[in-house]
Amino acid sequence: MKLKGFTAGLEKNYKLFQMNSVTQNYEKEMLEWRHDFHAHPELNFDLDITSSKVADILKSFGLEVHEGIGKTGIVAVLKNGNSNKSIGIRADMDALPVTEENDCTYKSNHEGKMHACGHDGHTAMALGAAKYLSNTKNFNGTVYFIFQPDEEKTQGAQAMIDDGLFETFPMDEVYAFHNLPGMELGTFATRAGTITASESLFKIELRGQGGHSALPHMGVDTITVGTQIITALQSIVSRKINPAMNGVVSVTKFESDGNENILPGHSIISGDARALSPEANQIIERSMKDIVDGTAKAHGVDYDFNYLTRTNMTINSRDQAAFASKVAADLFGEDKVDGNCDPKLFSEDFAQMLMVKPGCYILIGNGTEGTHGQSLHSSNYDFNDKLLVIGSSFWSKLVEERLND
Ligand SMILES: [Zn+2]
Ligand SMILES: [Zn+2]
Repeated sequence: MKLKGFTAGLEKNYKLFQMNSVTQNYEKEMLEWRHDFHAHPELNFDLDITSSKVADILKSFGLEVHEGIGKTGIVAVLKNGNSNKSIGIRADMDALPVTEENDCTYKSNHEGKMHACGHDGHTAMALGAAKYLSNTKNFNGTVYFIFQPDEEKTQGAQAMIDDGLFETFPMDEVYAFHNLPGMELGTFATRAGTITASESLFKIELRGQGGHSALPHMGVDTITVGTQIITALQSIVSRKINPAMNGVVSVTKFESDGNENILPGHSIISGDARALSPEANQIIERSMKDIVDGTAKAHGVDYDFNYLTRTNMTINSRDQAAFASKVAADLFGEDKVDGNCDPKLFSEDFAQMLMVKPGCYILIGNGTEGTHGQSLHSSNYDFNDKLLVIGSSFWSKLVEERLND
């Protein structure tokens, strides 16, 4: 659907946009669902309340609902017509261990837990699209609505895949989106190829010999060795990786068993590394191992080095990225879509699904003002409710365009 005369910012033209979008009749319900999820956040795989609410809502549309896939994950199946074509839409449902600072009527009721990444909104938008599509059935084929647990600790997508997601529900392709604060409300960004980075956790354990702080020659201090390692790690991104490839190495924790007058015989350095290509990730791991090995050996310290890539890069397929951009441009205008955005250094476990199926991950602007412009994962961030109609209209049009005759 073209929105004629729709050129200026969505904020200004929101009323016009509402009139032209496809899911505006479901806005009130989406708002209620979103605020209910927001008020009752749950973490990781422990989504019993959220997931049973989602399942009940989906059942109320008459969808075939499969629960318990990847522990608390859900797949709802909506078929129409006789085409073999199929598409998957994925939403994440988990919250974060953050204490909410917002003062809103739907503020978190669960102390120390908060929907600080907007997954409450993602879930509500997928539900809105599911309701619209089950009412209108203006498509020919099968839509799989995937509601996944544990995106934040990046284990949920893989858990659903291990539980037979793509064998039981053999979809041709799969899509997901994420809101992004700091990006103008309702603008879309995606790209072919890598869009988000891999995340690897590293841990370096150093074992020397503890001793008296005034008798350093009788011990093997692991702090002086550890700090040399930490400094040397900074040279990986600046000197080992081709500047055209991106990477980040961040040491986030340095612990030791030392005390005021006790030299530490045991230290642990840990942190996380991001890369936008498998090659950059391999260079980071190999360089890190060389630095630890060389420095530890030079000082007579034993070590263990552990590097675990727990999330892969999210790699969009060319066709699906172009198609998603086209759908967004047709709905909201060319000027609202960047089909070749810069890749981002954060990680997203939808990556695991794109390792198996072609598909696309899309970013949608959450706005730049107030709580909508605050960083994801912060205690004063909030999902922008104006996105509910925008995101669910996008899902609905994506399905209708893809599964047409
Ligand atoms: Zn998050
Ligand atoms: Zn998120």
